[in-house]
Amino acid sequence: MKNLRDTVIKPLAALTLFAVVTISSAADKIPVLASFSILGDLVRVVGADRVAVTMLVGPDEDAHVFEPKPGDAKNLLQTRLLVTNGLGFEPWAQKLVKSAGYKGQTVVASQGVKPRQMVAGKGHGHDRGDTDPHAWQDPTNVTLYVRNIAAALSKLDPEGKTIYQANSEAYAKELQALDADAKTQIAAIPADKRKVITSHDAFGYFGARYGIKFLAPQGASTGSEPSAKEVAQLIRQIRKEKIKAVFVENMSNPKLLAQLSKDAGVTVGPTLYVDALSAPQGPAGSYLQLMRHNVTQLAAGMKLN
Ligand code: ZN
Repeated sequence: MKNLRDTVIKPLAALTLFAVVTISSAADKIPVLASFSILGDLVRVVGADRVAVTMLVGPDEDAHVFEPKPGDAKNLLQTRLLVTNGLGFEPWAQKLVKSAGYKGQTVVASQGVKPRQMVAGKGHGHDRGDTDPHAWQDPTNVTLYVRNIAAALSKLDPEGKTIYQANSEAYAKELQALDADAKTQIAAIPADKRKVITSHDAFGYFGARYGIKFLAPQGASTGSEPSAKEVAQLIRQIRKEKIKAVFVENMSNPKLLAQLSKDAGVTVGPTLYVDALSAPQGPAGSYLQLMRHNVTQLAAGMKLN
């Protein structure tokens, strides 16, 4: 931000130059690396045109099975801030930091969130009783995420502090509105119909916030496959509880749910976006779009129960 500081010395020209410098000069932007696409969106919201955001796990990609490539280490060494989710979501991030010899700042965006335990999880380090990493599925947690990101950016770039704070607080208001809308939509569904089957157990925080029971045959991590016995048990449960709301996710293999839908006689609903955004033009190009899309689809599915 050296150029920026120099220009502010001449007060009369400062305002015009400020705008020109921050928007046009990519070299002046703070390079920030987010571990996955949802965090990338939040960093963009808070940092706006003062940051240049890149991501390790991009849209429609699965962070659970991600393996860093040599290019990722190179990217990390060019960044000044690494933003991770924490709560055990990116076991590969610490290894990457070590192997790349990264000496920059790291912020754990979920800092301060009250962690939940996994209920239905199994395999791949996400066993029942492990910490549930999917805290962003409760928008009230995301308020903490953006505040943590704003604080980390302010430390790196004190001149931008008021901008980062203003951006994160404006976004906190949008999160409040999102939360209120979700509550209204879900409250319209009778409590005994609030049951959903999804492919992996990523909705613990969402279910707790909005009073929905989620059943996930695939467990917490998308890497684990359920046994034939577990699938058979799930089909019995679907029939017994008359569950029609069955969904798959953008980053997971829909084969299992296709089998469930055939054997249990349910129709698989539209794709949900859970651990990854869609492409920018898709239905979940940002975190707010992702949540609004999921709430709408889940509510429509549960009405069929
Ligand atoms: Zn997940």
